[in-house]
Amino acid sequence: MKIMKFGGTSVGSPQRMKEVAEIVSAEQGKRIVVLSALSGTTNTLVAISEKCAASQKPEARKIADDLKIKYYTFLDDLFGDAPEVKANKEFADEVFDLVDHLIDQNYNDQVNKMLLAQGEIMSTHFFTDYMNMTGRKCEMIMAADYMTLDENAEPSLNITTTKINALLAEVQADVIITQGYIARNASGGMDNLRRGGSDYTATIIGAVLKSEEVQIWTDIDGMHNNDPRIVQNTHPLANLSFEEASELAYFGAKVLHPHCIIPAQLHEVPVRIKNTMDPTAHGTLISAIQGPGAVKAIAAKDNITAIKIKSSRMVMAYGFLKKIFEVFESYRTPIDMITTSEIAVSLTIDNPEHLDKIIAELSQFGKVEVDHQQTIICIVGDMVAEHKGVGSKIFLSLDDVPLRMISYGGSRNNISLLVSEEHKKDALQKLHESLF
Ligand code: ADP
Ligand code: ASP
Ligand code: MG
Repeated sequence: MKIMKFGGTSVGSPQRMKEVAEIVSAEQGKRIVVLSALSGTTNTLVAISEKCAASQKPEARKIADDLKIKYYTFLDDLFGDAPEVKANKEFADEVFDLVDHLIDQNYNDQVNKMLLAQGEIMSTHFFTDYMNMTGRKCEMIMAADYMTLDENAEPSLNITTTKINALLAEVQADVIITQGYIARNASGGMDNLRRGGSDYTATIIGAVLKSEEVQIWTDIDGMHNNDPRIVQNTHPLANLSFEEASELAYFGAKVLHPHCIIPAQLHEVPVRIKNTMDPTAHGTLISAIQGPGAVKAIAAKDNITAIKIKSSRMVMAYGFLKKIFEVFESYRTPIDMITTSEIAVSLTIDNPEHLDKIIAELSQFGKVEVDHQQTIICIVGDMVAEHKGVGSKIFLSLDDVPLRMISYGGSRNNISLLVSEEHKKDALQKLHESLF
């Protein structure tokens, strides 16, 4: 069994969706096809939801009406004169009636989650009909019927395994279509795997079914050695280890969802990033094999908050860090980077939701300073392979970039630097020139 996930751009136009049908048909054997919403749709649904949250219902309705018109045009192009066009427009009508109904409701978390789910529900419906219309027999299973979150809003692999196997036992076709992103939470309500979550859907399915491979089809020819949106002359990496890919995804390489490598690594399912626009390109193979090369790639994660706690009580004191960590634990706020000195500890978080309360509690241990709008720059590779010289190259290239924190040695795969967001572009470009 192979898992083939196609992102928003890959299904974002009728022509692209037709090409996806070709790519899926070219594979042999049982395969599960995970689809994102058409590109831009989830952003639009978020915008509708935000208008609802702000009690701006007419504005929400206007955005939904415009989206519906785009979908009609899409369906005309995808199905042409075939009778399927009518059936699929009726399906779109049902979805947009539901969106209207949700806009009318009192806004709450379930209204939000139901709105956000509609993109993948539509894309999979259209694609399934298009495949069957063109003689490629396929069936659909609904993500909300198997993808399950636990009380911590993390995927429950056990429940998901049982549920998906029960559904697959009923399926005859070799090609099975399903929605990325969508999940059900521990209370049975509609939920999702957070933005970009279709990658996570694919690797969770790959892991629970112990698939031979998960393919992430996207709009670029693999994981590049730096962020191609910011840095010039980046190039794709042929191979990465699970650890390296995991660090890059977590620290901002948008091509993969931050957590999607974890289930694949757990069950040693290789992940291949492929380009829908250039299917013969090699792409990136992510596996348990650690290839040579000290520095492989650089990624950057924005919207980081740095917190420094300074206290003379820290000198020679044990238990100080424990107390600090307990504060973050009690607000369920993960820490990304940490550095310490004799009298201070600095750490970073990417979720400032409980920042005020965290600062109030930390203040009992010392003076607290907070820097917003920071960026973690993460340099990934096998640093012990060639441990001489990497550090000096990094610091020489950044000699005029102010560094707020440096973290080295936490794992052999990662050197992290914290810079203020305004210095990110400059730092990424300079590191790129000196390291590659
Ligand atoms: P999809 O819709 O297929 O999920 P995404 O937009 O989520 O696609 O991810 C692909 C995009 O990620 C690329 O177009 C590229 O701009 C961006 N990206 C950021 N960092 C990297 C990187 N290191 N390698 C490749 N792509 C990257
Ligand atoms: N459609 C969702 C998003 O835009 C999930 C995904 O595309 O991976 O975040
Ligand atoms: Mg994505």
